[in-house]
Order: sequence, then structure tokens, then C-alpha cells
Amino acid sequence: MINLYIVATPIGNLEDITLRALRILKEVDFILCEDTRVTKKLLEKYEIKTPTISYHSFSGKIKTAKILELLEEGKNLALVSDAGTPTISDPGFQLVAEIREKFKDKVQILPIPGASALISALSVSALPADNFTFYGFLPHKKGKKTIINEILESKRTSVFYESPHRVLKTLKMLQELSVEKESNSKDLVGQSKKIVIARELTKMFEQVISGTVDEVLEYFEDNPDKVRGEFVVVVS
Ligand code: SAM
Repeated sequence: MINLYIVATPIGNLEDITLRALRILKEVDFILCEDTRVTKKLLEKYEIKTPTISYHSFSGKIKTAKILELLEEGKNLALVSDAGTPTISDPGFQLVAEIREKFKDKVQILPIPGASALISALSVSALPADNFTFYGFLPHKKGKKTIINEILESKRTSVFYESPHRVLKTLKMLQELSVEKESNSKDLVGQSKKIVIARELTKMFEQVISGTVDEVLEYFEDNPDKVRGEFVVVVS
């Protein structure tokens, strides 16, 4: 049986990888990675010599055809991304879809579970995690307001990824729209919501900040040096 493994890698701390993931990365014929330089750091730490092939969101049809050819030749492959679980707001889903469509059950597509920033953030958020909506990265412009309104109205926990360049703007939009909502409603839908920001999880400057949207926004405005790194936003 030919195998394509979808292997989760650390989101910061290189020790956050499973024994099975390390064995699979050693055993496969090739590792498909987003940025070969990022993956090489992980491979070097664990003395894994498996050759890598770059595969990212801009990889075109030729690259995909080459990967399909490798599977046809009977090669076992592992797909990794720069951090966390591949295909979760990361490249790979189209490749996985094409492989499933072309090879049906001739290629087994197997998950090798491990870290994911959204699950890690939820696990420390102290917010209900039995029923939540994950939005990935919010749109930059068109549609952002609609999604933020949806998040503010939702009875479920909402989770999304945010970049340091946009986090303040997004918090301000959350604040503005929640004020708007409260003035139009008898219910406390907006400002009563709790926001949790999980920053740089598993890394040196790891931090979890929580409070109302006003409190969290004030914290970042007072501490501009903390508007750095990688963020997951969780909204109650
Ligand atoms: N596939 C990855 C996963 O399973 O978590 C997510 C990839 S997505 C391109 C990268 C985003 O995930 C970052 O912009 C940030 O929002 C979030 N992220 C990744 N690592 C993180 C970390 N250590 N702490 C907080 N957020 C992180």
C-alpha cells in the first residue's frame, strides 16, 4: 500500500512532535514541505535525512503532477507545513483532494496528529470548547465586518487566526461593532463578550491575554511591544 501521511509539526517549541511523526518523517521517501528552510531546522534537530520537496500555495499543476507521479511510482510521502497541522489554514487541501480523487483507495491518506494553534489556544482559553466555529484568517477587507458581526451574535465560541499587522484593527472593529450592537439591543451581546488572545504559544514570549474587548484593546495599545508574533483570537 502506498501512503501519504499528513504530519503535524510543532507550532513553536520543536519538542512538540510525536514519536510517530518522527518515525514517519524518517521512513518516507520524500517530505513535501511549505518552506524547505523551515522544515530543515526540524529535520536537522532530529537528524532526519529524508529528501524534501517544496509544496506551497503557489505550487502549480506541474508540481502537483510530479507529486502524483511519485505516488504512481510507489513512493511514500509525508506532507508537512511550516507549523502545526497541514491543510488547517495552510496549503495542501487541493493536493489531498486530487490524490484522493485520482488514486481512490490505492493511496492511503493518513493523519499523523499533533500540534495546531487553534486547538492549543482553545485549550488554554477557559472558554467553552465543546462547540466552536473556526474562521481561519478573516478576510482583510470585503466581508470582514459581516464575519465580525456573526462572531458577536454567535452563541458559540469563535476562533480565528490573526497577524500582528492587523490584530489592533480587528480588535477596534470588534469594539466598534459591539458598541453598535449593544445600543441597538436590550441584550448584552457585544461588550459583555470575553476575548482571549493567545500569542506566541509554546515559544519564548508565550502569552495569553483575556478580558473584555475594551480591556484587551487597552492592553495592546499600552504595550505596543506585545503586538508581535503569532496570534490566535478566541471570542466567547
Ligand atoms: N496549520 C497551522 C495550525 O495547525 O495551527 C496554522 C497555520 S496558519 C498559516 C498560521 C497562523 O496560525 C498564524 O498566523 C497564527 O495566527 C497561528 N499560529 C501559528 N503558530 C502559532 C503560535 N505559536 N501561537 C499563536 N498562534 C499561532
